[in-house]
Amino acid sequence: MIHPPLRRMPALALLVLSALLAALLSAGTGPEAAADEAGARAQPVLHEAEDGRLNGTVVESAASGYSGTGYVTGFDAAEDSVAVTVPDGPAGLHDLVIHYRAPYGQKVASLQLNGEGAGDVTLPATDTFSTVAAGKVMLQEGPDTITIVNNWGWYEIDAISLTPSEPRPPHQVSGVPVDPRATPEARALLSYLAAGYGERILSGQQDAASVRWVEENVGRTPAVAGHDMMDYSPSRVERGTTSTEVENALAWDERGGITTFVWHWNAPAGLIDEPGKEWWRGFYTDATTFDVAAALADPQSAEYALLLRDIDAIAAELKRLQDAGVPVLWRPLHEAEGGWFWWGAKGPGPAKELWRLMYERMTGHHGLHNLIWVWNSVDPAWYPGDDVVDVVSADTYPPIGDHGPASGTYDKLVDLVGDEKLVALTETGSVPDPDLLRAYEADWSWFTTWSGEFIDDGEHNPLPFLKRVYEHDYVITLDELGDWRSHPPAGTG
Ligand code: CA
Repeated sequence: MIHPPLRRMPALALLVLSALLAALLSAGTGPEAAADEAGARAQPVLHEAEDGRLNGTVVESAASGYSGTGYVTGFDAAEDSVAVTVPDGPAGLHDLVIHYRAPYGQKVASLQLNGEGAGDVTLPATDTFSTVAAGKVMLQEGPDTITIVNNWGWYEIDAISLTPSEPRPPHQVSGVPVDPRATPEARALLSYLAAGYGERILSGQQDAASVRWVEENVGRTPAVAGHDMMDYSPSRVERGTTSTEVENALAWDERGGITTFVWHWNAPAGLIDEPGKEWWRGFYTDATTFDVAAALADPQSAEYALLLRDIDAIAAELKRLQDAGVPVLWRPLHEAEGGWFWWGAKGPGPAKELWRLMYERMTGHHGLHNLIWVWNSVDPAWYPGDDVVDVVSADTYPPIGDHGPASGTYDKLVDLVGDEKLVALTETGSVPDPDLLRAYEADWSWFTTWSGEFIDDGEHNPLPFLKRVYEHDYVITLDELGDWRSHPPAGTG
């Protein structure tokens, strides 16, 4: 298997590389010496925070254990910051580490690179000066400025250190579904996605109306369309909802596109239904009294039976898709770790248990084998297990104007599954810039832009930017998908 960055390298660069290698070998430098050189890790370079430009912050030295002459604290107002200048050095991708102390509990700080938003970093609680990995930064030719901006405050910044990033090793994704009885279509889909992983990103759009907006305004068609089982939830149907999402998916499949479904699962019971907590907001934790932990704890309870009733109702809809030969990137129990949906409200244990219950009920009892199981939390404590997950994913809604690659989140998901499963950006408010995806080696398999204002308000994703994204070589649109359904399944070679 060829390492993706090498495969992306233009032929000329490869020629130059091999010429260099040949010159190196003929000059008497043996392969061992070359290997030594490649194996030597670059050393981190420390930059003291107290030497940076203070904006509303102060240098102190009362706590011991810092490096240099002190540390920066006093992050009180929202814009308080310290800007550390990194002198001219090698350009390229670097691992950023923050040296800090957070004696008042875990805090979050925001980062900027040369004045542009570069994501947030969580600083775990620590009484003594410690370090935390803060993702990657792409340093430019000439000096760079890395700024740490308040956010939660109540932390002390001692220094930052930067190390040239190691190239990402080859991915280990097999592309074989976890369901041993997966349909040929599901096998072909996952295998197709795995084959292109790291080489390209599939464009995606949530909601049929927003897909149409993209087609009419951007002039290209996304490869993946997102749908929602929400209005098939029995507690909504009881109140009169109807849905055409399965019909939308069937029509989309006819056009050759790839189908993904989320399920805003309206709580089976306990809907509070008062202003602000209306019954149709019943997937939110604060709009229902339904207790997922209590329901799962007693398989004889009425609440447990309601969980099964709801899973069965959605299984019937998924069965219609299976009968039509449509494989589904299936993303239930999304954003569980956030806690704002009732299935995540009682912590990781019940969420993981509910995932397994659904997996077993759908694949076993209902014989649904057209599903690619997409898990949607990053924290390892929430991960249901390698045997019931095909793809791991995250939803990101960065501030308007931030089209960064979300590489910190991507890297965490790669680590979560030992780089053996696909990683997808299943919801975003801001489409990532394809050039940054490549530069940061953030190899998201596909992105799905959320519907409505996120795609069409001209602010989250300005139209000229969307056109550049959809025209980009790295971004696959519907017309570029090819015959994914006939892709040879992985693991049969
Ligand atoms: Ca210091």
